[in-house]
Amino acid sequence: MTEWDACRCRKGHATARGFARCKVRGLAWITGRGDWALVAWCGNPTITLWPTETEAADRGSVLAAARCGRACRGAHQIIHINLNREAYA
Ligand SMILES: [Zn+2]
Ligand SMILES: [Zn+2]
Repeated sequence: MTEWDACRCRKGHATARGFARCKVRGLAWITGRGDWALVAWCGNPTITLWPTETEAADRGSVLAAARCGRACRGAHQIIHINLNREAYA
């Protein structure tokens, strides 16, 4: 399992969404809510956020959320965004 707990900007982020936007260059879009990110690195990266790892890892979630279409290379990754650790680093 991959965990992101520090952003290069070192400013700290109030939300996982803000963190991910800052962390991923060239992000096409981000949607959802929660600390578990399903990142699709197919073409321009896209991120769907989920409240639990189980939901992020669910195959149905992957297919519905990534929406990679023809550009899909199957390069999908589940990442836990640990804002607490960033805040106290
Ligand atoms: Zn940042
Ligand atoms: Zn894909």
